[in-house]
Amino acid sequence: MKVTFFGVRGSCPVSGPAFSRYGGNTSCVLVEPRNFEPKIILDLGTGLHPLGDHLDGLDAELKGERSNKPLNAKIFVTHLHWDHIQGLPFFPQANREKSRLEIFGPIQQDNSLIDIYHRFMSPPFFPVGVWDLKASISLHGLVGNETIIDSNVTVKVGTIPHQGGLTLGYRIESDYSSVVYISDHQGPLNWESGYVDQTVVDLVDNCDLLIHDGQYNKQEFEEKIDWGHCTYDYALTVAKAGKAKSLALFHHDPYHSDDTIDQILNSVKEKNNGEVKSIYAASEGMTIDLHDHAAVLSSVL
Ligand SMILES: [Zn+2]
Ligand SMILES: [Zn+2]
Repeated sequence: MKVTFFGVRGSCPVSGPAFSRYGGNTSCVLVEPRNFEPKIILDLGTGLHPLGDHLDGLDAELKGERSNKPLNAKIFVTHLHWDHIQGLPFFPQANREKSRLEIFGPIQQDNSLIDIYHRFMSPPFFPVGVWDLKASISLHGLVGNETIIDSNVTVKVGTIPHQGGLTLGYRIESDYSSVVYISDHQGPLNWESGYVDQTVVDLVDNCDLLIHDGQYNKQEFEEKIDWGHCTYDYALTVAKAGKAKSLALFHHDPYHSDDTIDQILNSVKEKNNGEVKSIYAASEGMTIDLHDHAAVLSSVL
């Protein structure tokens, strides 16, 4: 199974020289199991836009010939905050007749997922409605305790503490490897005690790669204690509690420059004491190959 990051930023997209190495697009990750035809996409943040170009065969400089091929994809959305859905209107594959997009996301109490998507993607917020897109799009609401099995891929769903609506985490298993995606995680007030929500621990359970919220330092968390996120040190706590083999810090704060993220990565590695085998700070274009249980890094962008 191959995991490639196209949007790694939390909350708000950013651009400029301070963010050129890690990237400024919001949450979007491509997961490619072996021998499974549909692409698996985690979240629809602004990273969906460069992912669309990548799937069309263009490189980061938009060089190459655009293939304009339709896409068959299963898309798992953690929750409906802007930074996780805003890329959909700008995804070229969504406007191709033979594309088939199956979107799974958190069920809403008063409205169907279909109504919610229609609300955010319709005039006056956007000139084109979601149903005007040419792709065949289906939406499926999840409560957060499902296991979805499709040929050689299993997706386990869990509820994750966050703020402002039901939030899901996903565990994808295939080819004897596993990746767990917890993009937004409200750290507990007593996070330094090592407490981790049991659902989270069960989802992480010895996974090969944990992609986890690493938004704040200690002071930022104290200032934004109920904003729905956690410290990068807490990401390490979660990885250790669930015995993850590797950890990718994700959902970088829009105020964290490349240099700050370098420092964060170094400090988390220092605190690790070797328990988690590999620790990364996710960056746009980074690929982690989980085949053979060894994370081998390369870059597609
Ligand atoms: Zn977010
Ligand atoms: Zn959120």
